[in-house]
Amino acid sequence: DVEVPESHPRYESLLTRHRIEEGVEKGITSRQGLIAQGRGEAFDYLLGERTTGSADAAARAAAAHLLLADHPVLSVNGNVAALCPGELVELAEVVGADLEVNLFNRTDERMRAIVDHLRDHGAEAVRGLTADGRIPGIDHERAKVDAEGIGDADVVLVPLEDGDRAEALGAMGKVELVVDLNPMSRSAQVATVPIVDNVIRAIPNVTRHARDLADASEAELHAVVDGFDAETTLAAAERAIREGVDDEGDGENES
Ligand code: ATP
Ligand code: MG
Repeated sequence: DVEVPESHPRYESLLTRHRIEEGVEKGITSRQGLIAQGRGEAFDYLLGERTTGSADAAARAAAAHLLLADHPVLSVNGNVAALCPGELVELAEVVGADLEVNLFNRTDERMRAIVDHLRDHGAEAVRGLTADGRIPGIDHERAKVDAEGIGDADVVLVPLEDGDRAEALGAMGKVELVVDLNPMSRSAQVATVPIVDNVIRAIPNVTRHARDLADASEAELHAVVDGFDAETTLAAAERAIREGVDDEGDGENES
């Protein structure tokens, strides 16, 4: 077993990596998930392993969308289940969202392992096993969703979603909130709200904003949503990566 001393300069990063390893051992995370993790780590390193100002504004816009939604659903895959299960359960409670397991490489075993894992972290109902709905335009196995879950949702939070499915969900007319450390990834590019941040920081940050906005009026929530611009956000994230520019006070996307 890995023991990482808290004083280690890369403590957070090593802890995250260890959680993914454990996820693979428990049958929650796929081996492909290890590759996705490696890609994410590289982008996080370039971002300075921090939540930028533009990512924080995106998290706030995502929180407003979730609070305005008729039927919000949080999609859970093998990586996020391993990285932040308790944080996802908490966000679902705070905004009144469903949790749905939604896997790129779907196997019954892994579906069940993730449902059980979320229940161990306090989730009551977890969707995904019914799989009686389909995302149009996607091949059979990858198209499966619950008709009364993601199929019926008006707002979906999809952390680390595959580019194809992100595009297809958008084409279904859903408001799509994506967490992805790569601003050039197609998933981030097609999102209504791209949150370019590590899911480990982003999910609790969306929850914090949702709590802060809990008493806001609909008009105030709409103002947060309307004040957000996806292209500006992606450009700011790319600048932060390429030039190490701190986008904290760029004046855009502020509400
Ligand atoms: P495409 O351009 O089609 O979207 P892709 O980048 O999605 O390709 P993958 O490696 O399958 O290819 O996707 C993994 C994505 O998840 C990467 O963009 C990576 O940056 C992101 N990612 C991995 N770990 C995390 C994490 N902990 N938090 C946020 N994003 C992450
Ligand atoms: Mg992607």
